[in-house]
Amino acid sequence: MPLHQFEHRHRVIFLFTFLASLLFLNSCSIQGVFVNDKLATSHVENVDKDDIVQSVFLIGDAGKPSLEKKEPVLAALEREASKYRERGVIVFLGDNVYPKGMPKESHDERPFMERRLNELVSVVEQSGATGIFIPGNHDWGEWSDDGLESVKRQNEFLEAKKNTRIRMSPQGGTPGPDIIDIGAHVRLVVLDTEWWLHGNPKPLYPNTHDENETKKAITDSLEKVLKSAGNRYVIVVGHHPLESHGTHSGFFDWRDHIFPLREIESWLLIPLPVVGSMYPLIRNLGISNQDMSGSKYEEMKHAFENVFSQHPPLVYAAGHEHTLEVLESDDEYLILVSGYGTSKHDPSLTHADHTLFAHRHTGFMRIDILIDQRVRLGVIEPRSEGEKSEEVFSMWIRQ
Ligand SMILES: [Zn+2]
Repeated sequence: MPLHQFEHRHRVIFLFTFLASLLFLNSCSIQGVFVNDKLATSHVENVDKDDIVQSVFLIGDAGKPSLEKKEPVLAALEREASKYRERGVIVFLGDNVYPKGMPKESHDERPFMERRLNELVSVVEQSGATGIFIPGNHDWGEWSDDGLESVKRQNEFLEAKKNTRIRMSPQGGTPGPDIIDIGAHVRLVVLDTEWWLHGNPKPLYPNTHDENETKKAITDSLEKVLKSAGNRYVIVVGHHPLESHGTHSGFFDWRDHIFPLREIESWLLIPLPVVGSMYPLIRNLGISNQDMSGSKYEEMKHAFENVFSQHPPLVYAAGHEHTLEVLESDDEYLILVSGYGTSKHDPSLTHADHTLFAHRHTGFMRIDILIDQRVRLGVIEPRSEGEKSEEVFSMWIRQ
């Protein structure tokens, strides 16, 4: 056989072997509820609602709710939060309006997008809780050059509600950190993580001259707000997680290899084997700054981890990955991923050493501060179309 033919055959075999091993390694998402063995036998008792002084509800990527009937996860959240009224704070962890944030008032899609956002606003209004809306990459116009204006329009829309219990944070495309002290026991620190990844116009910190100076100012501020928290429990929230084990961290299950167009819409089941495997491969090379392999994402992650290693918060909570995950960090804080806020997602998910809990199911998380200062985490999922809900995981964060 001529040498060039041998080399060609060799390359083809190598490519197929590589793709086959990729498919094998990433073969299946976890099925059912995953709980780390070290927690599997620990009993976490329920607590009386009168013993809870503050509840913080965390839900991300809820900006694509059903408009025909109440989105089940939102129905479950509204009912749970209603039990606590003004003791409850609901944090919408970004991607509050899919797919490109709030359009201009003159845009044909504006009424439809207002209806989507109003579904989330209604949960706050009906439950009597406080609602905090964080921008995500989709709220930033899907990282387009209209992104900043899109965030500002969502901000203005929420302000026009003239409800002091509803606010966007950080305001109007600024990066944060925003400090929101809640009651006597909680300091919520809010970051706009998309600011770090966004390649189009965005505001700088006052008295800084470029993006790098602003990044330094953000991390300096973050350190200060963590150091000055006193006895308050610090809950840091942003849209992008510091760790997760779904597609944004490079895990793609066999469906993503065979049906790559699912990523666009979960019902697009058009088989494209081999070609489909190129998509996860390319995503793993860091071409998207929305993935953890992206250089801007890595820079942001390291900047925050660096601060948290010196001054650990109670938790860092985010959405973006359409999963429910509770993860340990290398330091003394938990990483929460609560990004499964609509039934329209269909994610890939695996677990790793840091995983304490993981489930591919719609739901939300809650952090309860008790009168005796203990802190309990619960993961709640809707059942029976949202008419019921079930706590599928719980643990003490502070005991
Ligand atoms: Zn996102």
